[in-house]
Amino acid sequence: MQFPLPIISSPMDTVTESDMLTAMSQAGGLGIVHRYNSIAAQVDLIKVANAHHIGAAIGVTGDYLDRARAVVNAGACVICIDVAHGHHILMKQVLKSLRSALGDSVHLMAGNVATLQGFNDLADWGADSVRVGVGGGSICSTRIQTGHGVPTLQSVLDCAQSDRSISIIADGGIRTSGDIVKALAAGADFVMLGSLLAGTQESPGDVIVPSGETAIVVESSGDGFTYAEQEGLVKKYRGMASIEAQIDWRGHTSSVEGVSTMIPYKGSVKDILQTLETGIRSGFSYSGATSISKLHAHAKFMKQSYSGAMESSTHIFQQ
Ligand code: IMP
Repeated sequence: MQFPLPIISSPMDTVTESDMLTAMSQAGGLGIVHRYNSIAAQVDLIKVANAHHIGAAIGVTGDYLDRARAVVNAGACVICIDVAHGHHILMKQVLKSLRSALGDSVHLMAGNVATLQGFNDLADWGADSVRVGVGGGSICSTRIQTGHGVPTLQSVLDCAQSDRSISIIADGGIRTSGDIVKALAAGADFVMLGSLLAGTQESPGDVIVPSGETAIVVESSGDGFTYAEQEGLVKKYRGMASIEAQIDWRGHTSSVEGVSTMIPYKGSVKDILQTLETGIRSGFSYSGATSISKLHAHAKFMKQSYSGAMESSTHIFQQ
Protein backbone atom coordinates (compact mmCIF):
# COMPACT_ATOMS: atom_id res chain seq x y z
CA MET A 1 0.00 0.00 0.00
CA GLN A 2 1.64 3.21 -1.16
CA PHE A 3 0.26 6.71 -1.61
CA PRO A 4 1.77 10.21 -1.30
CA LEU A 5 0.11 11.50 1.90
CA PRO A 6 0.43 9.01 4.81
CA ILE A 7 -3.03 9.83 6.17
CA ILE A 8 -6.05 7.47 6.31
CA SER A 9 -9.54 8.54 7.38
CA SER A 10 -11.27 6.45 10.07
CA PRO A 11 -14.11 4.09 9.10
CA MET A 12 -16.65 5.94 11.27
CA ASP A 13 -20.13 7.16 10.30
CA THR A 14 -19.30 10.77 11.19
CA VAL A 15 -15.99 10.69 9.28
CA THR A 16 -15.96 8.69 6.02
CA GLU A 17 -18.61 8.41 3.32
CA SER A 18 -18.45 9.39 -0.39
CA ASP A 19 -17.28 13.01 -0.07
CA MET A 20 -14.48 12.10 2.34
CA LEU A 21 -13.42 9.15 0.15
CA THR A 22 -13.06 11.48 -2.82
CA ALA A 23 -11.32 14.25 -0.86
CA MET A 24 -8.84 11.84 0.76
CA SER A 25 -7.96 10.29 -2.57
CA GLN A 26 -7.57 13.68 -4.26
CA ALA A 27 -5.25 14.85 -1.48
CA GLY A 28 -3.06 11.75 -1.93
CA GLY A 29 -4.30 9.89 1.15
CA LEU A 30 -6.83 7.08 1.62
CA GLY A 31 -10.41 7.01 2.88
CA ILE A 32 -12.00 3.93 4.46
CA VAL A 33 -15.77 3.93 4.09
CA HIS A 34 -17.51 2.74 7.28
CA ARG A 35 -19.49 -0.51 7.57
CA TYR A 36 -22.42 0.66 9.71
CA ASN A 37 -24.99 0.29 6.95
CA SER A 38 -26.36 -2.33 4.56
CA ILE A 39 -24.04 -3.85 1.95
CA ALA A 40 -26.04 -2.08 -0.78
CA ALA A 41 -25.69 1.29 0.96
CA GLN A 42 -21.94 0.84 1.41
CA VAL A 43 -21.57 -0.13 -2.26
CA ASP A 44 -23.52 3.00 -3.27
CA LEU A 45 -21.16 5.18 -1.24
CA ILE A 46 -18.21 3.66 -3.09
CA LYS A 47 -19.88 4.09 -6.47
CA VAL A 48 -20.69 7.75 -5.78
CA ALA A 49 -17.00 8.29 -5.01
CA ASN A 50 -16.42 6.79 -8.50
CA ALA A 51 -13.88 4.30 -7.27
CA HIS A 52 -11.08 6.69 -6.70
CA HIS A 53 -8.42 4.87 -4.68
CA ILE A 54 -10.74 3.58 -1.93
CA GLY A 55 -10.79 1.44 1.20
CA ALA A 56 -13.86 -0.18 2.75
CA ALA A 57 -14.46 -1.58 6.24
CA ILE A 58 -16.03 -4.93 7.09
CA GLY A 59 -16.62 -6.78 10.38
CA VAL A 60 -15.66 -10.30 11.48
CA THR A 61 -19.10 -11.92 11.81
CA GLY A 62 -22.35 -12.25 9.85
CA ASP A 63 -22.24 -11.07 6.25
CA TYR A 64 -18.58 -10.01 6.27
CA LEU A 65 -17.59 -12.21 3.32
CA ASP A 66 -20.50 -11.03 1.12
CA ARG A 67 -19.69 -7.45 2.11
CA ALA A 68 -16.01 -7.92 1.23
CA ARG A 69 -16.85 -9.35 -2.21
CA ALA A 70 -19.38 -6.58 -2.88
CA VAL A 71 -17.06 -3.69 -1.96
CA VAL A 72 -14.20 -5.16 -4.00
CA ASN A 73 -16.52 -5.57 -6.99
CA ALA A 74 -17.57 -1.94 -6.52
CA GLY A 75 -13.93 -0.83 -6.75
CA ALA A 76 -12.41 -0.91 -3.23
CA CYS A 77 -8.73 -1.91 -3.31
CA VAL A 78 -8.21 -2.00 0.47
CA ILE A 79 -10.36 -4.04 2.88
CA CYS A 80 -10.20 -2.89 6.49
CA ILE A 81 -11.20 -5.63 8.95
CA ASP A 82 -12.52 -3.20 11.52
CA VAL A 83 -12.85 -4.45 15.10
CA ALA A 84 -11.90 -2.85 18.40
CA HIS A 85 -10.07 -5.98 19.66
CA GLY A 86 -8.29 -7.41 16.65
CA HIS A 87 -5.88 -9.82 18.39
CA HIS A 88 -8.58 -12.46 18.34
CA ILE A 89 -9.11 -15.91 16.90
CA LEU A 90 -11.97 -14.56 14.73
CA MET A 91 -9.44 -12.27 13.02
CA LYS A 92 -7.32 -15.29 12.10
CA GLN A 93 -10.31 -17.05 10.53
CA VAL A 94 -11.46 -13.93 8.68
CA LEU A 95 -8.00 -13.20 7.25
CA LYS A 96 -7.76 -16.78 6.05
CA SER A 97 -11.18 -16.82 4.41
CA LEU A 98 -10.71 -13.38 2.80
CA ARG A 99 -7.37 -14.39 1.36
CA SER A 100 -8.78 -17.53 -0.20
CA ALA A 101 -11.90 -15.71 -1.48
CA LEU A 102 -10.19 -12.55 -2.79
CA GLY A 103 -6.63 -13.62 -3.62
CA ASP A 104 -3.50 -11.54 -3.15
CA SER A 105 -4.41 -8.44 -5.14
CA VAL A 106 -6.62 -6.91 -2.40
CA HIS A 107 -4.82 -5.23 0.49
CA LEU A 108 -6.01 -6.55 3.87
CA MET A 109 -5.79 -4.05 6.75
CA ALA A 110 -6.39 -5.65 10.15
CA GLY A 111 -6.53 -4.48 13.78
CA ASN A 112 -6.69 -3.00 16.22
CA VAL A 113 -3.84 -4.27 18.37
CA ALA A 114 -1.83 -2.72 21.19
CA THR A 115 1.14 -5.11 21.49
CA LEU A 116 4.05 -6.49 19.48
CA GLN A 117 2.69 -10.03 19.92
CA GLY A 118 -0.65 -8.93 18.49
CA PHE A 119 1.05 -7.20 15.56
CA ASN A 120 3.21 -10.24 14.76
CA ASP A 121 0.27 -12.63 14.97
CA LEU A 122 -1.86 -10.56 12.57
CA ALA A 123 1.11 -10.37 10.19
CA ASP A 124 1.53 -14.15 10.36
CA TRP A 125 -2.21 -14.65 9.81
CA GLY A 126 -1.96 -12.76 6.51
CA ALA A 127 -2.56 -9.05 7.17
CA ASP A 128 -0.82 -6.54 4.87
CA SER A 129 -1.09 -3.71 7.42
CA VAL A 130 -2.23 -3.40 11.02
CA ARG A 131 -3.97 -0.58 12.87
CA VAL A 132 -2.05 -0.05 16.09
CA GLY A 133 -3.74 1.60 19.07
CA VAL A 134 -6.28 0.47 21.68
CA GLY A 135 -8.10 2.94 23.91
CA GLY A 136 -6.46 6.13 22.63
CA GLY A 137 -9.20 7.67 20.45
CA SER A 138 -10.52 11.13 21.33
CA ILE A 139 -14.09 9.77 21.66
CA CYS A 140 -13.00 6.51 23.30
CA SER A 141 -13.85 5.31 26.81
CA THR A 142 -12.44 1.78 26.45
CA ARG A 143 -9.78 2.28 29.12
CA ILE A 144 -12.38 3.61 31.59
CA GLN A 145 -14.93 0.90 30.76
CA THR A 146 -12.55 -2.08 30.51
CA GLY A 147 -9.21 -1.14 32.08
CA HIS A 148 -7.49 -2.10 28.82
CA GLY A 149 -5.34 -0.20 26.38
CA VAL A 150 -1.84 1.17 25.84
CA PRO A 151 -0.79 4.74 24.98
CA THR A 152 -0.78 4.78 21.18
CA LEU A 153 2.79 6.10 20.87
CA GLN A 154 4.07 3.28 23.13
CA SER A 155 2.18 0.67 21.06
CA VAL A 156 3.73 2.06 17.87
CA LEU A 157 7.22 2.02 19.40
CA ASP A 158 6.65 -1.61 20.50
CA CYS A 159 5.23 -2.81 17.16
CA ALA A 160 8.08 -1.09 15.28
CA GLN A 161 10.39 -3.67 16.89
CA SER A 162 8.76 -6.34 14.72
CA ASP A 163 10.79 -8.16 12.08
CA ARG A 164 7.62 -8.58 9.95
CA SER A 165 7.58 -6.29 6.94
CA ILE A 166 3.92 -5.21 6.93
CA SER A 167 2.82 -1.59 7.50
CA ILE A 168 1.98 0.02 10.85
CA ILE A 169 -0.97 2.41 11.01
CA ALA A 170 -0.98 4.56 14.17
CA ASP A 171 -4.64 4.95 15.17
CA GLY A 172 -6.22 6.98 17.97
CA GLY A 173 -5.32 10.13 19.86
CA ILE A 174 -3.65 12.08 17.05
CA ARG A 175 -4.57 15.77 17.48
CA THR A 176 -1.94 17.75 15.56
CA SER A 177 0.57 17.53 12.69
CA GLY A 178 3.21 17.28 15.44
CA ASP A 179 1.50 14.10 16.72
CA ILE A 180 1.59 12.71 13.15
CA VAL A 181 5.33 13.39 12.88
CA LYS A 182 5.91 11.69 16.26
CA ALA A 183 3.87 8.63 15.22
CA LEU A 184 5.84 8.31 11.96
CA ALA A 185 9.13 8.86 13.81
CA ALA A 186 8.17 6.08 16.25
CA GLY A 187 7.80 3.64 13.37
CA ALA A 188 4.35 4.11 11.85
CA ASP A 189 4.02 4.09 8.06
CA PHE A 190 0.61 5.80 8.12
CA VAL A 191 -1.68 7.50 10.61
CA MET A 192 -5.44 7.07 10.88
CA LEU A 193 -7.42 10.16 11.84
CA GLY A 194 -10.92 10.56 13.25
CA SER A 195 -11.41 13.83 15.14
CA LEU A 196 -8.99 15.82 12.95
CA LEU A 197 -11.11 15.08 9.86
CA ALA A 198 -14.56 15.10 11.53
CA GLY A 199 -16.54 18.34 11.61
CA THR A 200 -15.54 19.19 8.04
CA GLN A 201 -17.65 19.86 5.00
CA GLU A 202 -16.80 16.40 3.62
CA SER A 203 -17.65 14.44 6.79
CA PRO A 204 -21.17 12.93 6.89
CA GLY A 205 -23.92 14.73 8.81
CA ASP A 206 -25.49 18.16 9.01
CA VAL A 207 -23.93 21.43 10.02
CA ILE A 208 -25.88 22.61 13.05
CA VAL A 209 -26.41 26.17 14.31
CA PRO A 210 -26.29 26.55 18.11
CA SER A 211 -30.10 26.80 18.45
CA GLY A 212 -30.33 23.26 17.08
CA GLU A 213 -31.50 24.01 13.55
CA THR A 214 -29.79 22.34 10.62
CA ALA A 215 -27.72 24.79 8.60
CA ILE A 216 -26.56 24.08 5.09
CA VAL A 217 -23.18 25.68 4.51
CA VAL A 218 -22.17 25.81 0.87
CA GLU A 219 -18.77 27.48 1.03
CA SER A 220 -16.01 25.06 0.17
CA SER A 221 -12.82 27.00 0.82
CA GLY A 222 -11.18 29.26 3.39
CA ASP A 223 -14.24 31.53 3.52
CA GLY A 224 -16.38 28.71 4.83
CA PHE A 225 -13.95 28.21 7.68
CA THR A 226 -14.13 31.85 8.78
CA TYR A 227 -17.91 31.97 8.45
CA ALA A 228 -18.31 28.79 10.46
CA GLU A 229 -16.11 30.01 13.28
CA GLN A 230 -17.94 33.32 13.47
CA GLU A 231 -21.33 31.66 13.58
CA GLY A 232 -20.36 28.96 16.09
CA LEU A 233 -21.50 26.17 13.77
CA VAL A 234 -20.94 22.57 14.87
CA LYS A 235 -21.10 19.02 13.50
CA LYS A 236 -21.50 15.70 15.28
CA TYR A 237 -18.55 13.40 15.95
CA ARG A 238 -19.22 10.11 17.73
CA GLY A 239 -17.46 6.91 18.73
CA MET A 240 -18.89 3.87 16.98
CA ALA A 241 -19.24 2.21 20.41
CA SER A 242 -21.13 5.20 21.89
CA ILE A 243 -24.71 4.57 23.06
CA GLU A 244 -26.10 6.71 20.25
CA ALA A 245 -24.13 5.02 17.46
CA GLN A 246 -24.85 1.50 18.74
CA ILE A 247 -28.60 2.20 18.91
CA ASP A 248 -28.49 3.58 15.36
CA TRP A 249 -26.62 0.70 13.77
CA ARG A 250 -27.75 -2.34 15.73
CA GLY A 251 -30.77 -1.19 17.72
CA HIS A 252 -29.35 -2.00 21.15
CA THR A 253 -26.23 -1.36 23.22
CA SER A 254 -23.59 -3.78 24.39
CA SER A 255 -20.46 -2.50 26.20
CA VAL A 256 -20.45 1.30 25.83
CA GLU A 257 -16.89 2.34 25.02
CA GLY A 258 -17.30 5.69 23.29
CA VAL A 259 -18.99 9.07 23.48
CA SER A 260 -20.91 11.32 21.09
CA THR A 261 -20.32 15.05 20.93
CA MET A 262 -20.56 18.20 18.83
CA ILE A 263 -17.34 19.75 17.52
CA PRO A 264 -16.78 23.09 15.77
CA TYR A 265 -17.44 23.06 12.04
CA LYS A 266 -14.08 23.39 10.27
CA GLY A 267 -14.93 23.99 6.60
CA SER A 268 -13.21 22.12 3.80
CA VAL A 269 -11.14 19.05 4.67
CA LYS A 270 -8.80 19.98 1.80
CA ASP A 271 -7.61 22.98 3.85
CA ILE A 272 -7.16 20.78 6.94
CA LEU A 273 -5.13 18.21 4.98
CA GLN A 274 -3.01 20.93 3.42
CA THR A 275 -2.21 22.41 6.83
CA LEU A 276 -1.35 18.96 8.19
CA GLU A 277 0.89 18.23 5.20
CA THR A 278 2.75 21.52 5.68
CA GLY A 279 3.35 20.68 9.36
CA ILE A 280 4.50 17.15 8.50
CA ARG A 281 6.96 18.43 5.88
CA SER A 282 8.36 20.98 8.35
CA GLY A 283 8.69 18.22 10.97
CA PHE A 284 10.66 16.07 8.53
CA SER A 285 13.01 18.97 7.81
CA TYR A 286 13.81 19.43 11.54
CA SER A 287 14.97 15.79 11.53
CA GLY A 288 16.82 16.18 8.23
CA ALA A 289 14.64 13.39 6.82
CA THR A 290 13.47 13.07 3.21
CA SER A 291 11.42 9.90 3.73
CA ILE A 292 9.47 8.16 6.48
CA SER A 293 12.16 5.49 6.86
CA LYS A 294 14.85 8.19 7.23
CA LEU A 295 12.72 9.99 9.83
CA HIS A 296 12.42 6.73 11.72
CA ALA A 297 16.18 6.19 11.56
CA HIS A 298 17.06 9.78 12.59
CA ALA A 299 14.50 10.36 15.34
CA LYS A 300 15.41 10.20 19.02
CA PHE A 301 12.76 10.20 21.75
CA MET A 302 13.36 11.50 25.26
CA LYS A 303 11.31 11.58 28.44
CA GLN A 304 10.30 15.04 29.56
CA SER A 305 9.13 16.44 32.87
CA TYR A 306 5.78 18.13 33.50
CA SER A 307 7.55 21.50 33.14
CA GLY A 308 8.98 20.36 29.80
CA ALA A 309 5.52 19.32 28.63
CA MET A 310 4.12 22.73 29.63
CA GLU A 311 6.91 24.46 27.72
CA SER A 312 6.13 22.27 24.68
CA SER A 313 2.78 23.94 24.08
CA THR A 314 2.11 27.66 23.62
CA HIS A 315 2.24 29.06 27.17
CA ILE A 316 2.02 32.84 26.86
CA PHE A 317 -1.66 32.60 27.87
CA GLN A 318 -1.02 30.53 31.01
CA GLN A 319 -0.11 33.02 33.74
P1 IMP B 1 -9.27 10.03 17.07
O1 IMP B 1 -8.52 10.29 15.78
O2 IMP B 1 -8.46 10.31 18.30
O3 IMP B 1 -10.59 10.75 17.09
O4 IMP B 1 -9.55 8.46 17.11
C1 IMP B 1 -10.20 7.77 16.06
C2 IMP B 1 -10.12 6.29 16.32
O5 IMP B 1 -10.86 5.93 17.50
C3 IMP B 1 -10.74 5.43 15.24
O6 IMP B 1 -9.91 5.28 14.09
C4 IMP B 1 -10.97 4.10 15.96
O7 IMP B 1 -9.81 3.31 16.03
C5 IMP B 1 -11.28 4.56 17.38
N1 IMP B 1 -12.72 4.53 17.72
C6 IMP B 1 -13.79 4.84 16.95
N2 IMP B 1 -14.94 4.75 17.66
C7 IMP B 1 -14.59 4.36 18.90
C8 IMP B 1 -15.33 4.09 20.09
O8 IMP B 1 -16.54 4.24 20.18
N3 IMP B 1 -14.61 3.67 21.16
C9 IMP B 1 -13.25 3.52 21.12
N4 IMP B 1 -12.51 3.80 20.04
C10 IMP B 1 -13.18 4.21 18.94
